Amino acid sequence: MAELCARLRRWFTGKGPGRPVLPPSSLVSIGKAIETTSDDEFDCEQTNRLLDQFAEAALRGEDSAPWMDLIQAHLDRCPDCQAEFEALLHVLETEDT
Ligand SMILES: [Zn+2]
Repeated sequence: MAELCARLRRWFTGKGPGRPVLPPSSLVSIGKAIETTSDDEFDCEQTNRLLDQFAEAALRGEDSAPWMDLIQAHLDRCPDCQAEFEALLHVLETEDT
């Protein structure tokens, strides 16, 4: 995903003859990346607000609430929030024992 972002950035900021030509396969993956984003998705702030509840629910084995899908989708895309989530899980796990 990071590679795709770098490629997109080069694509959008690229100027002149150095601008790379995208092969059709990367157009497909860009299309998919755009497809998987929606107006419903959480940003970092919303994710962080619900992250402790999400971590607690995840530890209880709950994963069926619709808002949890949105958090999970954000975590899949956002390494920052994922690191935050893993740190939180670690704290909760050590609290429990
Ligand atoms: Zn995030």
